[in-house]
Amino acid sequence: MTIEKAGEMLRKGEITSVELTSAYLKNITEKNKELNSFLEVFSDSLEQAKRADGRIKNGEAGGLTGIPIAIKDNILIQGRTASAASKILENYVASYDAYVIKKLKDAGAVIIGRTNMDEFAMGSSTQTSAYGVTRNPYDKNRVPGGSSGGSAVAVASDMALVALGTETCGSVRQPASFCGLVGLKPTYGRVSRNGIIAMGNSLDQVSPFGKTVKDVETVFNVIQGKDEMDATSIVPHLEEEGAGGGNVIGIPWHLFDSGVDKEVMDNFKESVEKLKNAGYKIVDIDLPYSKYSLATYYIIMPAEVSTNLSRFDGVRYGLRKEGENVSDVYKKTRSAGFGAETKRRIILGTFILSHGYYDAYYNKAWRVRNAIKEEFQNIFKKVDFIMTPTTPTPAFKIGEKLDDPVAMYLCDIFSAPANLTGIPAIALPSGFTSGGLPLSVQFMAKHFGENDLFLIGKKFEETR
Ligand code: GLN
Repeated sequence: MTIEKAGEMLRKGEITSVELTSAYLKNITEKNKELNSFLEVFSDSLEQAKRADGRIKNGEAGGLTGIPIAIKDNILIQGRTASAASKILENYVASYDAYVIKKLKDAGAVIIGRTNMDEFAMGSSTQTSAYGVTRNPYDKNRVPGGSSGGSAVAVASDMALVALGTETCGSVRQPASFCGLVGLKPTYGRVSRNGIIAMGNSLDQVSPFGKTVKDVETVFNVIQGKDEMDATSIVPHLEEEGAGGGNVIGIPWHLFDSGVDKEVMDNFKESVEKLKNAGYKIVDIDLPYSKYSLATYYIIMPAEVSTNLSRFDGVRYGLRKEGENVSDVYKKTRSAGFGAETKRRIILGTFILSHGYYDAYYNKAWRVRNAIKEEFQNIFKKVDFIMTPTTPTPAFKIGEKLDDPVAMYLCDIFSAPANLTGIPAIALPSGFTSGGLPLSVQFMAKHFGENDLFLIGKKFEETR
């Protein structure tokens, strides 16, 4: 089912949102126990659906009215728990709606539950959640990717029609790739971060999952927009926005040297051929600084993480462990509340920002980040798109890479540039491995080039 199809049936009266929502709730009852995609299913889902049906009857329906959507657990919904899959926020209830939630409610979407994720969005496999791993519906012994793994699985196994995740570095594109879905990382600033539990402020962006490019486009159009409550929220400069119809694709082959799985590579080459046949012009490009993307990301992100997570101290909200004095309360609360990966990043980030190292690491990383940005701006004078595999491997086994953080970090190798530079990127299903695991390619475009990505995405869908 797609939004397009469901929307048509809803408007024609062939189905009600109550019926549609009930079907998804039934799937949740049947599948969620094993897959662990939802941390909570909202008991008022059918009431929301009833209200949506009222709007549809009155002719007040928009594209998302009556559509069941799942929400990652780091996006605030007023009156609901938002735990970011951490123990430290186990009992935290949001006191307001995130901007994107307000938009969804205004549109009449049915918010059916909150989904599992890596703790505070740190991870690529949804295994660092304090609430258990989420399983990949294509092979239950494998991870769904992360950090928005719960949202990806919800859509991939028909427990929601579409879902929201967040990206700091690939957390929607990578699980979209592992679960056979479309995932869009919008231009930094196009979707408000107000009401998102921050990981890396200069990188975070709410990002939708769907089964088709059109569905992702529909959700994006509802949630994007200027928000006074987020100082980094921007109105797109229309003159810079893609004119549409560009057909030059650049491929940075040199970035694939290290460790791309053979089946991923073969599939990527096949996808390139299909695009050639569809009339696209393929050129080789050089992005010499981009090989430092991952190193840069793993300095800037932990620095921002250590700052953002200092607010979880047992004083204002969240878990609290009593101690002998203030510092003892902090220590006991944070030791008990955070998981190992979160602690690792807080420690790394605190070191990076400490006296004597700030210049050597943090400032240097920002200079490299700017060099990467410039490199991309220059390349986009010559090409309309940059194409890479979305991930270097298909979904890996549960437990794999858990003891080797660097191997886990390497999952982000093709994701990092778009988050560091702020450009939009889309992950698209491109086939399956011989063992039946989904494969994916990614396209990046210049700032505000979402429409170009939707265009090429639809073209690519036609070649499948
Ligand atoms: N794999 C990335 C990380 O571990 C995911 C971050 C994200 O996009 N939330 O940092």
